[in-house]
Parts: sequence; C-alpha cells; structure tokens
Amino acid sequence: MTTTQSPPPVPASLPRSEEEIAARVKALESIMIEKGIMTTEAVDRLAEIYENEVGPHLGAKVVARAWSDPAFRDRLLANASTACAEMGIGGLQGEDMVAVANTGAVHNVIVCTLCSCYPWPVLGLPPNWYKYPAYRSRMVRAPRAVLHENFGLDVPESVEIRVWDSSAELRYFVLPQRPEGTGGMSEEQLAGLVTRDSMIGVGRPRRPGE
Ligand code: FE
Repeated sequence: MTTTQSPPPVPASLPRSEEEIAARVKALESIMIEKGIMTTEAVDRLAEIYENEVGPHLGAKVVARAWSDPAFRDRLLANASTACAEMGIGGLQGEDMVAVANTGAVHNVIVCTLCSCYPWPVLGLPPNWYKYPAYRSRMVRAPRAVLHENFGLDVPESVEIRVWDSSAELRYFVLPQRPEGTGGMSEEQLAGLVTRDSMIGVGRPRRPGE
C-alpha cells in the first residue's frame, strides 16, 4: 500500500531581498528578546562565535588529520560527527555530518537546494553565494559547468561529479585529495593547504608553496 504525501506548505510571502531578510531577522530577534526567550548578550555571543571562532580552519584541521592518519580517515568517513568530536569539534548544525571523500575517480560538491544547510562546526557560516538560487539550482543540473564558469575549477571528463544535497538532518562536507608533494609535511602544515572552497567542493587545496 502506498500513501501520498502533500508537499510542505509554502509561506505566503517569501522574503525577496537580503534587506528584507535582514529586517525580518531583526524583527524576530527583537520579539525573542522582548519575550525573554533570548538575551541581547546571547545573540551577540553566538554571532561572535560563528564570526571569529568557528570557521573553516577547524575543518582544515579535520582534513589534515584524515590525510595523516588512515584510522582517523576511516572513522571520519564512517561517522563524521563522532570523528570531529574526538577533536573537540562539534555543536550547532553539526549533529549529523557526513564527510565525502574525493578520489581520482570521484569529485564531490555540496549544496543545499532548499535553503542554506551547511556543516557549521567545520566550515563556519556559509558564504553568501552558497545561498543564492543560482548556485543552489544550477549546481545540481550542471555541476561541471558551474565549477568551470563560476569557480574556475576544471574537473576532467573522466572524473564523476557527485553533488550532495544537504538538509537540516544531514550536512555534508568534502574530504579533498591530499596534494602531491606533501609527503614530509606535518598535520599543522597540511591544514594550511586546506581551503574552505576545497571542503565545499568548488575548489582544490593549495599546493605547497602556492
Ligand atoms: Fe538548507
């Protein structure tokens, strides 16, 4: 027996511009503070954490460890949230993270087609373009073209591109390939090569000296 599900209701008026969204956020924040659900200090602290403390430098540490420690890499690919927790990395919007590994045959890219779901604990807040409808809709239809045209990243035809659609439940990030010529590098040095974009899948890690 099958049941049909009606699609989720769409709000009557979706915000149109960034200004409108900002105004709505401000209004919501004011109401929550007024009603005592939140304090101004808590809002400021949260913003500070995600602006200054949590960011792609944390994801870079995770990637560098995976490049250096095969057992950690296995644990990361089996359960990214618990593997990151080993390094003290986790929290809001990172309860169920999945790491997808690039290989010589597969290149992974992350997107949220619905909104802007993103693994905050390892990447921080998403870049603005990640939220743009153009990225969200076109990345799933023509990933090779978007990577080439918008990010200058050419993925060879022989390499399959897999696009991972994040949601509120599952948030993906990319484990890029370790660059050539990094054999003698420490974990800390390796972390310096890992870019935010390489963990989204729209770029590659830097090469030594780049
Ligand atoms: Fe989303």
